[in-house]
Amino acid sequence: MDIRSLFTNARETCLSLADFIRRSITPWHAVAEMERRLVAAGFVPLGNHTRLEPGDLVYDIAFGSALTAVIVGDAPEPVWSLVGTHCDSPALAVKPAADQVAEGYRRLATEVYGGPILSTWFDRPLGLAGRVWFTDAETGRLCSRLVELETRFVLPNLAIHMNREVNKGVAIDPKSELLPVYATAEGRDLLSLLAEAADVDPAALLDWELRFFDPEPASFLGDGGIWIQAPRLDNLASCHAGLEALLTAAAAEEVPGNHAVLFCADAEEVGSHGKSGAASLLLRDRLERIALILGAGRAEFLAGLDQSFLLSADLAHAVHPNRAELADATNRPRLNGGPVIKSAANLSYITDAPGAARFHLICQAAGVPCQSFSNRSDLGGGSTIGPLLSGQLPLAGVDVGTPVWAMHSLRETAGVEDQAWFCRALVQYFSHRLP
Ligand code: ZN
Repeated sequence: MDIRSLFTNARETCLSLADFIRRSITPWHAVAEMERRLVAAGFVPLGNHTRLEPGDLVYDIAFGSALTAVIVGDAPEPVWSLVGTHCDSPALAVKPAADQVAEGYRRLATEVYGGPILSTWFDRPLGLAGRVWFTDAETGRLCSRLVELETRFVLPNLAIHMNREVNKGVAIDPKSELLPVYATAEGRDLLSLLAEAADVDPAALLDWELRFFDPEPASFLGDGGIWIQAPRLDNLASCHAGLEALLTAAAAEEVPGNHAVLFCADAEEVGSHGKSGAASLLLRDRLERIALILGAGRAEFLAGLDQSFLLSADLAHAVHPNRAELADATNRPRLNGGPVIKSAANLSYITDAPGAARFHLICQAAGVPCQSFSNRSDLGGGSTIGPLLSGQLPLAGVDVGTPVWAMHSLRETAGVEDQAWFCRALVQYFSHRLP
């Protein structure tokens, strides 16, 4: 496979990213969309496989929101080339018993999921989607279905005449101000809207998990469309790059040496705990299960981890043109400057020198430029699933991602070229033995 000839049309890669984001309106929808693309490419559920062979394509979905997809490699020992990402994004989550009426309007109570920039959620159409649980009329069994409501909601801002200080920064009270409005008091309640969206008798609906999302499509910005602005780039951009790379590697004639693994966890934005978060034993159990099916013993599984590698993929901060003083003095990633290696002495990223050196070699082989990020020395900064995953699986690794402006805004802005370069670097990583 000629790696350098892959993903050379960055606009096309980002149109595919935009389509993926439009379909991936909640973590559950994102996992369903990834499953759809994997199945179309010949991946089959790991399920009750009792045999696996080099070149087999398998995937597993846990709890509807954590996905593991694997190309079985042809190395005799269980060595893994992993890409780890997350499929959840900051959002407003609907609370139980959410219906409220105020001043003759219907509205829904929410709680904040993760760390959104709340001001960006006002004065724009908001969609509502998630999954519902109901009793099947014929079998009496518990079933679930993904839903997207047709109705759009709104969080109106206060007029500036009632809030003269708003441009000096404004506090937003989640309990009283984050209740999206959608109807007059005489309108339908949430149960009726959900029953219609799910095509289920309202009496059969038992419970639901719902998130508000930005339904507007991605836009291409800048002279010549050099940037893509979209909701949920954190971290659907990394899920998309990992998936595109895995599908490309799966379609190649050669079987990779290491087992190529894409792992997309849920719950990163709230600390990665829970059954489908990266701090759980989920990934470790899935890998061990595959190793055992391949005939490896536990000792071999553990030994294989020493030679394996985790590429933790999540977005990075690009230097902000109007607030450049917040960037580090010398580590200043730019949009369309290439994927970014993220390092922190406090180990909020897993990057160490050998991990970064490996990623440099991968980028060199793929013909991809690469940048570095470090927090300004007096600022905290974020973290990723990398350190949590490496707490469950003792893996060498690196934290890498494409740069964006306004991380956790409802709409984030990224470089079109970076997405294509990251896809290409990940194909190189999945398809070859580690350098
Ligand atoms: Zn993220």
